[in-house]
Amino acid sequence: MKKIFILTFFLTSNFSLIAQENTKMNKKLNKTDTEWKEILSPQQYHILREKGTDRPGDFGYTNTFDKGTYFCAACNAQLFDSDTKYESHCGWPSFDDAIKGAIHFNSDITLGMVRTEITCATCEGHLGHIFDDGPKETTGKRYCVNTTSIKFVKSNN
Ligand SMILES: [Zn+2]
Repeated sequence: MKKIFILTFFLTSNFSLIAQENTKMNKKLNKTDTEWKEILSPQQYHILREKGTDRPGDFGYTNTFDKGTYFCAACNAQLFDSDTKYESHCGWPSFDDAIKGAIHFNSDITLGMVRTEITCATCEGHLGHIFDDGPKETTGKRYCVNTTSIKFVKSNN
């Protein structure tokens, strides 16, 4: 009888530890504007926190097609796999899909347009917008992302 009690206690306490870990992992990153200004460059702050837009062009990651992973430039969350990057000729890095759960979608009615803004699900940093003119053979979506909002890490193989 005693043994069972001890075992139950052990299991229960273990489960609550796991639950605590999960809560920690899913915790949103909430920083103040001042804290973000300390971490980010002025350009990163403008794009990620003030919802700015990189000027279009061939610079940055627009023409990067190496194998690897794209991370959030603010919080390092994994956002896009290089397998989903494609040449859209729109002047910004474009992806037809994102890593599951990494992106939040928000309605954006600024500039007299109805668009869907995409943000990092972890820190709510502004990434860009999503459009329905992506490759039809895959998702049909175009995740149009600012180079400033992401960081590319090349894979070794
Ligand atoms: Zn982030």
